[in-house]
Amino acid sequence: MMNPKPYIPVERILLGPGPSPVPQRVLRAMAAPTLGHLDPDYLAIMDNTCEMLRQVFRTKNLLTFPVSGTGMAGMECIAVNMIEPGDEVIVCVNGVFGTRMKDVMERCGAIVHAIEITWSDVFTLEQIKTVLDQHPKVKLVGIVHAETSTGAHQPLEGLAELVHGRGALLVVDAVTSLGGHELCVDDWGIDAIYSGTQKCLSCPPGLSPVSFGERALARLDARKSKPQSWYLDVSMLRKYYTDGGGGGGRVYHHTAPINMTYALHEALVMVLEEGLDARIARHATMHQRLRNGLEGMGIRYIPKRSLHSLNCINIPAGADDAGVRRRLLEEYGIEIGSGLGPMAGKAWRIGLMGHGASIRNVDLVLAALREVLR
Ligand SMILES: *Cc1c(COP(=O)(O)O)cnc(C)c1O
Repeated sequence: MMNPKPYIPVERILLGPGPSPVPQRVLRAMAAPTLGHLDPDYLAIMDNTCEMLRQVFRTKNLLTFPVSGTGMAGMECIAVNMIEPGDEVIVCVNGVFGTRMKDVMERCGAIVHAIEITWSDVFTLEQIKTVLDQHPKVKLVGIVHAETSTGAHQPLEGLAELVHGRGALLVVDAVTSLGGHELCVDDWGIDAIYSGTQKCLSCPPGLSPVSFGERALARLDARKSKPQSWYLDVSMLRKYYTDGGGGGGRVYHHTAPINMTYALHEALVMVLEEGLDARIARHATMHQRLRNGLEGMGIRYIPKRSLHSLNCINIPAGADDAGVRRRLLEEYGIEIGSGLGPMAGKAWRIGLMGHGASIRNVDLVLAALREVLR
């Protein structure tokens, strides 16, 4: 028989690829009384949350809301709604998350033309144009803005013009960039985008903010078949999250994760209190501070164009990958990430996301690494 006893987790300093440290304010918000999912008070909090998401995504898109589920649910939501079986799509693959996007879109019945480049490199407009030229029937181009597996930062400016010129939609994974990197959904012409709460927004995992623009909605309306997923069908979800479009009231679809919404609401209030620009600048400054320290120790960055929110570095020669990470965790309470996929055993990933991107954490992880690597 199990002896029931409360579980009190230890406190860690989360400097891995996510989840990131969650401020007390956000944790406290989660502990507020649970409301009904059609309670007017709850709907007001939900509406405010969607409005703040629009500000953080820098978009006017009405259909902007948090999908119930983690970042992968957002990826599946966009794929299953934007793709019909037999559609040709292009997916840009330079890491684990591009690989997953290809897999998810194939499961939706898409014919995926993957553009694969060396992991940790980023795509040029030329590379994407060449593949678009080869496949004139392509309906969608998917790309990862912040490849958390390699730390590469993909520029997106100018891509929408190219993609729209071919009548295709631009779909972006912004799980590790939203709230930590410059990201302009409207100015950059992004048609559909998904993110997550537990990276630069510093909220626990559990929701996936998404946004759909005009072109994406037109694609949705023109569908000949229903999306395979009932749970993620946006034509139904929008009747709950956006008041049915025409003031038709809120239509129950599934029970929204009420307390997770409180958490996201508080996390977004904190983003806007700090100011989105100031927050993005803080991520840049903390990245540079860490980078200076690591390079001073002779440690090299793997991607040429590094993210600020995720620092992917070579494991120094002679260092014991798992041993170092275990000592950081046990002796300092610091979590950093291991290498993913082909980078396993070769890379460490230090996340400076949201609340985690502070002088205190940067200097602590540098001092701890210096000591453990001695
Ligand atoms: C973390 C991450 C995801 C997946 O999010 P989950 O919350 O783990 O489901 C997708 N894409 C990128 C780039 C990520 O970093």
